[in-house]
Amino acid sequence: MKDKEKKSFFHNFYPDFIYEKVEDIPYELLRKEDIRLILMDMDNTLIDYKADFSKNLRKWIKDMKSKDIKLYIVSNSISNSKIKKVSKELGLQYFYKAGKPSRRGLRKVFDNFPDIKKEQTLMIGDQLFTDILAGNRFNIKTLLVKRINKKETILSSCKRPLERLVLNHYYKKDESEGKCRI
Ligand SMILES: [Mg+2]
Repeated sequence: MKDKEKKSFFHNFYPDFIYEKVEDIPYELLRKEDIRLILMDMDNTLIDYKADFSKNLRKWIKDMKSKDIKLYIVSNSISNSKIKKVSKELGLQYFYKAGKPSRRGLRKVFDNFPDIKKEQTLMIGDQLFTDILAGNRFNIKTLLVKRINKKETILSSCKRPLERLVLNHYYKKDESEGKCRI
């Protein structure tokens, strides 16, 4: 778990954990970190550009729910019909037009679970400058996944070189501290 005290500009974008995809996240990690609520980005985190998702993702969601972990989609999507369909298919609740990196959407969802603390909450997403920054600003744990598709909006693709820059700093820092976060 990284020190949430922000030491540099880059720290705002550092995820606590990095995994290839959502369904790779082991329950053991969530149990160790005492995670009880997971806020998840939708586009390129759960679904591809055709709004398809893997069978393994559905299995992972079922598995986490059976272990009493609450799951919620928090998306910047402005399409209610798309998020409604995906949420229904995956059996998840959702909050859309979240405006990440604003904390507003995260807080709205978090406030629905008064028994759960911030340190028991995890934000998962594929973008440092929206998902991870929002999670860090809200002071919850953060996990970066690789985007599902290379194909994405122009705005998102413009941010990718900057993301690589931040991640290079992140990995260098980890190397110098002799630890690996994956
Ligand atoms: Mg995304």
